Formats: sequence, structure tokens, C-alpha cells
Amino acid sequence: MKVAFATLGCRTNQHDTAEMQSLMEQEGFSIVDARENADVYVINTCSVTARSDYSSRLAVKRSLAINENALVVFTGCYAQLAPEEAANINGLDIVLGNANKLEIANVIKDTLNAKTPWEKSDKTEIFMSDIHRKRVFRTIPVSKFQGKTKAFIKVQTGCDEKCAFCTVVRARGKSISDSRDNILNNVREAIDSGFREITLTGINLGTYGMDKERAETFTSLVRDILKLKGDFRVRLSSINPMEIEDDLLQLMADHENLCPHLHIPLQSGDDTILARMRRNYNSAQYLEVAHRALEKIAPLGLGADVIIGFPGETDACFENTRHLIESLPFSYLHAFSYSPRKGTEAYDFKDNIPKAVKKERNKILTDLIKEKSLEFRQQFRNQTVTVLFENQRDPVTGDLKGYSEHYLPVSVKGNDDLKNQLVPVTIEEVTEHQVSGCLQ
Ligand code: SF4
Repeated sequence: MKVAFATLGCRTNQHDTAEMQSLMEQEGFSIVDARENADVYVINTCSVTARSDYSSRLAVKRSLAINENALVVFTGCYAQLAPEEAANINGLDIVLGNANKLEIANVIKDTLNAKTPWEKSDKTEIFMSDIHRKRVFRTIPVSKFQGKTKAFIKVQTGCDEKCAFCTVVRARGKSISDSRDNILNNVREAIDSGFREITLTGINLGTYGMDKERAETFTSLVRDILKLKGDFRVRLSSINPMEIEDDLLQLMADHENLCPHLHIPLQSGDDTILARMRRNYNSAQYLEVAHRALEKIAPLGLGADVIIGFPGETDACFENTRHLIESLPFSYLHAFSYSPRKGTEAYDFKDNIPKAVKKERNKILTDLIKEKSLEFRQQFRNQTVTVLFENQRDPVTGDLKGYSEHYLPVSVKGNDDLKNQLVPVTIEEVTEHQVSGCLQ
């Protein structure tokens, strides 16, 4: 039987999908692309914004448009946060909680075997454990990330923070970490399977190990991973500012195979708004962390997330955000317009910002980051970087494409045998739209 997965949202969700694919393959299912005809479709949803909810529902429609008789499973954060609402989405057969994802193969087999031949019914089954009860964190080794050249290794999940706009805590539960041995085993398995880049991911990555009886630090885990044999590099996914230790920055400065790239969520550059968001830092602390990193690691790929139009964000507050972003050498930025999320503290905040103002502010930051990104890229002209080339070529130019260690998107003309290889490239051309280079 064929099963297809559609995955929305963060890298932790990408890891979850790879685990579920691995389990389905072990049960004899073959994995096909989500645009192909399949007997089963699994939608691994995201619910961080209203837009992600909409995209999750759209993925169900798209699957049923290909095969109206397919069994459709709805899992991920939307399913976890609103199982009853999800169960009313037309054409869904199973709603599966985040803590139940590793049961997917049995749940699907039992459903298919419940009636032979299996037929869709109006009834939707909900499989949902309490994500907040004490639980053992378990990941399984993953040897494939369909079509991807990077392995996302989840080391921690859940979060103990209480950011006022965030639904993730309710969808993923409290912060828990995987065992060090299991993580090292998962990384080794990925290296042995041919992955050249390991992205460490979690919901609040930097809090890895803090929940353990004998607390461990994220830095010590990264240090152990860097000791593993093999030709690979490690990239960190998003990490909160107050979790970035000096030792971690020193490790990044000292180890070529730890990518000099940090994605540090900012959300706002204004202290009043940061306090209202219940972020655990203020603008001065964010700047202090960023400057410490920039002093130790040069050049450093620096990215951030920003929320535009949080309730109460006056022109002056926004100007503080714009000013902070202008003051740091960001190489890219993810700017999101605030959307109220049910069940969050901020949902009841009244002083909302009009859509038009959010749009205008979004444009200001987008124009600013275009300039800063170009400035960042230009320093690499005639420099050599190491690019991991992806399996898919650029659909327009046909060139090979990939990312450098600083998370610079680079394209070159080259043969297929360079795909999934770490290749030194000398940067020749830098424009607003692309960075291209030549092979050594
Ligand atoms: S740190 Fe804040 S935004 Fe991030 S997952 Fe935790 S509560 Fe959500």
C-alpha cells in the first residue's frame, strides 16, 4: 500500500514525519510523494498561525482531490490543539495526537483491518494522549528524510516558557529531552546513511538536558556529537537567546564542522512589547548575546524571527524593533504578522493593530532585510565556502543549489555527482536574488 505525507511547520515536525515514514516502511508501506495517488495520506499539521491552520486544512482537500477514497490521518499541532474541530473536517478518518505519532503504523493497520475491504465512513477516530502528563521522550533512528540531504535530529521537545502568543506549549507539552545515548545513536545512524549535514532541532533546543535528574547542557551534547567519526557538519536550528552559552559560541568558533550560523528568535526589539509577550529577555540582553556571538564567530550567519503588529505595538515600539534589526548584521529574517491564537494569553489582548499597519510594517522590515542580506552576501565575493548541494536542481537555471556553512544560498554549474556532497565553492557573483560561484 502507498502512503503519502504532507508536512507543515518547523523542523521538529519534519523530524516527526521522517520517524513516521520509517515506521510505515517497516510495516511494508511504500512512501510516495504527496502529489501522487496514495491509499493513505498523513497530514502532519502546524498551528503556529491562522495561515498554518488554513494550509493544514487545504492539504486534506488536496489529498482527497487525488484519491477521494483514501484513508486520511490528521496529526501534528492543529490536531493536538483542536481534536474535535479537526474531527469535523470533511474526509478525515483519523485524528492523531503529537504524543501518539509513534503509534501511527498500528493505528492505520488496525483501521484498515477493521473492515475488509476498507471503506471510508463519516466517523472520525481520535487517538489523543494527554501531552501534559509525565512521559518518556522517545525518538527512533531515521535513515531517510525523503528527498532531503539534511537529517533533522530532534533532541528535545516541549517547552516550559509561557510566551503570551504561543500555542506550541499546549501542543507539545512540557520540555523533555531525549537520552544522550539515543541521540548519539540517531546521529551516527544518519551519518552512516550518508547524510553530510545534521540539523539539531527541538521546540526549545537550548533547554536540552535541563529536565534531567542530573542536568546536562546542550553545549556538552553538541561537543559529543562533534567527536563522532565521519565527514559531516552540524547545524543548529532555532535557539533562544538566553540559552546561548559562551561555551557553545566557543565551540562554534573552534570547530569547522559546527556551522557558523545562529537563528535567534527576536520577536520584538521593544522592551514593553517583549514584556507583554512574556519573553525571557529584553532588547539589551538580546543585543548582548548577538554581539558576543559576532565577536567570537566571524563571519556569522545570523537569522531571527520577528512578530509584527503584536497588540499594543505603537509606531514607537515598532521603530525600536526596526532600529535593533538595523543595528545587527542579520543575513535573513522571518517576519510574521501577529495573528491571535485561541487559548493563548494574548488572545484576549484588545489593542489590536490594523491589518494595513501590519502590512506597512512588514514591508519596511522586508526592504530593510533585503539591504542587510545583500550586505552580508557581498563579503563572500572571491571567498571560498563549503556548500551542501541538494538533490533538486534550480528549476529555472538547472544549476546545482545548496547552502553554505553560514546558511548562504549558493548555486553553481556542475554534475549530478556533486549532489549531497560538501563542496568548496568560490563565490563569484552576488546579487539581491542569488549568489553563484564556481567549483575549485
Ligand atoms: S519559547 Fe515561547 S515561543 Fe518558543 S515554544 Fe516556548 S512558549 Fe512558544
